[in-house]
Amino acid sequence: MKRIVLASNNAGKVREFQRLFAPLEIEIVPQGELGVPEAEEPYFTFIENALTKARHAARITGLPALADDSGICVAALGGAPGVFSARFAGEPKSDARNNEKLLTELAGQEDRRAWYYAALVLVRHADDPQPLIADGTCHGYVLEAAHGDGGFGYDPLFLIPHYNRTAAQLTSEEKGLISHRGKALAALIAKLREEGL
Ligand code: IMP
Repeated sequence: MKRIVLASNNAGKVREFQRLFAPLEIEIVPQGELGVPEAEEPYFTFIENALTKARHAARITGLPALADDSGICVAALGGAPGVFSARFAGEPKSDARNNEKLLTELAGQEDRRAWYYAALVLVRHADDPQPLIADGTCHGYVLEAAHGDGGFGYDPLFLIPHYNRTAAQLTSEEKGLISHRGKALAALIAKLREEGL
């Protein structure tokens, strides 16, 4: 079985990646288990941050590394909070304060269009000149009040027209089918299969 280090310690993500990679006989190991400290995420695009995190984990462990970076982009805010989604309302990171800030910034705004975006990068080794890259988007609308208590982050405010429910009102299976991360992962796995990995 091949091993890939995951440049994240988020338990939910670790489980999701482990489940989806198991049929490929690939073991996903969270970077914390291998003593990798979190990398800085200094860039203004998701893809640059994901690439940096993947290279960092590969360099320290000597293993192929997978990283993701994601967030919510709001049309009326010119794509913000984007890469700053996790810390939109400042440190310490708080989903509740982030959601409150989003509602304040969109008060009175008729254009409520928004989308989740996820970038995934897999490097075979730290200096891989041709990383495998996949991304996915999930379009929706920011509601004026929270609905549902599932999911995380902006999910209670994020209406997904396909289901006419917020992301916080979906099961994890329902969300996985249409989510930015689900789509990006499916695309990455298709690329891995093409490579015969
Ligand atoms: P990261 O990719 O774990 O750094 O996530 C960045 C931030 O984007 C999260 O902390 C959330 O605020 C937001 N985000 C990313 N994906 C989702 C999602 O599926 N639902 C809700 N919020 C998300």
